[in-house]
Amino acid sequence: MKDVKIINPNFIDNLNCSKEKYVYLDPKDFEIYAYDIPAPNGYIELEKFPYCCEFHTHAYESTQEWIKLFPNCCENHKNLLRESWFNKSNYMGIALKVVRQISYTEHIINEKIKNTDWNEEITDYLEYNILSFGQLPKPYGVVGLQQYERNITHWIRQNSNIEQHKKEYILGFINEFRNQTPQEKTDLNILNNIYLKWLALFPFELEFFKSLKSKFIGKSPFIKQIGRKNRYTGETSAEIHTKDSFFNSLLELTNKLITETNSLISYQKGYLNDPVKTQIEIINQKRLLKLQKGYTNNSSNEERKFRRIIKSWLKDEKEYLSELITAIKTKDCQSHKETPLSKKNNRDNTPKKFEDLFCNPNNSNICLEILRVLDPPFIDSSNTYIGKNKGIFPLWIKVLKTHNPEPLIKHFDDKTYKNILNNHFKGLNLSKDASEFRKVYARLDTKGLEQQIKTILSQFSQSGRLGK
Ligand SMILES: [Zn+2]
Ligand SMILES: [Zn+2]
Repeated sequence: MKDVKIINPNFIDNLNCSKEKYVYLDPKDFEIYAYDIPAPNGYIELEKFPYCCEFHTHAYESTQEWIKLFPNCCENHKNLLRESWFNKSNYMGIALKVVRQISYTEHIINEKIKNTDWNEEITDYLEYNILSFGQLPKPYGVVGLQQYERNITHWIRQNSNIEQHKKEYILGFINEFRNQTPQEKTDLNILNNIYLKWLALFPFELEFFKSLKSKFIGKSPFIKQIGRKNRYTGETSAEIHTKDSFFNSLLELTNKLITETNSLISYQKGYLNDPVKTQIEIINQKRLLKLQKGYTNNSSNEERKFRRIIKSWLKDEKEYLSELITAIKTKDCQSHKETPLSKKNNRDNTPKKFEDLFCNPNNSNICLEILRVLDPPFIDSSNTYIGKNKGIFPLWIKVLKTHNPEPLIKHFDDKTYKNILNNHFKGLNLSKDASEFRKVYARLDTKGLEQQIKTILSQFSQSGRLGK
């Protein structure tokens, strides 16, 4: 329907040579031809139209008179005579188009003014009509649009069937549409460069932003606002961002992203599996941002400027390393703590053999020897219990467990010791509940025996028989 003619030959050259992603079409470089619109449904043209009544006759004849003068009608239009692309015969049918569209618009207003959506119906139709007049290259305006608007405005004003507030709404729309300030020229290449910088700057490398990156890469989010779809033209208007409004929209987007996705929210949702790793990523991103920004100093003295830049850089490096080291230390501590835990979970730590009781299994025989060399001995050479007091075993375990500087026996519960000892020593038979480990043995010289065991251990140690 729209027929656009590019009138600036340089533009075509630019289009072919440009290395930029977007090519900007300036309103001074093209003309949109006017086009006819069909009569609305149910419209019946009156007999002798446009000479059917005084109003239509006047609208038609005044436009005819004006087009005869055109482009000598005003100073602005006079300049058209110097334009090589201008051909007056293209605009000669305009008077009939104007009066027809006035009549169509009257029909639509009469039909729709009582509808609940009268405002959308009527303004969509007005927009449809206004756009059909096309446009001359800037600054020559639109041929015939003034005549259409002036007459339809007059018709609405004097129409007693339209309520006052509806009149004001419709006339307000026409007035606003006419006075629309042309959009501030926006070069999409400038917007695209801003966007690419933002993509590079935003910390998409952080774990919780990674999945979002693909949503933003390769996009051109330059539309500020999408309007309602016009029910007559079928078109949806879109407003392109200016540089300033695009900056603001990116600021809003940044704020939205960082407030909706962050450590707190990830933690609450249970996604923060490795907070220290995230912390390190954040420390790195912070340093990267500062490095991307670079270092400058306002000092007028060149030497001082240089010194201050280096000083500021050193301070940042020190801070970065300090944060990094703290985080890495935390990570190391965590992994140390994690190991015994996972071992506990993965492996049954219950000792199976007598040697398993010992921190160093090689010491099991020499510690056994203690029970044979005590006076009187408690076991014989074939590990049979020959003593008179089973209280020696808990005592023996206690001394080995608390041995300095390193314990010789690992810590287990009483029943574990009891099971291993009963298996290892024939005839020992410690009770099922290992009560021997909690009993007080009045007839056992506990202190004397403890001292004896320690002395023997010390002798073994000095003679090198006790391994570490
Ligand atoms: Zn008429
Ligand atoms: Zn003029």
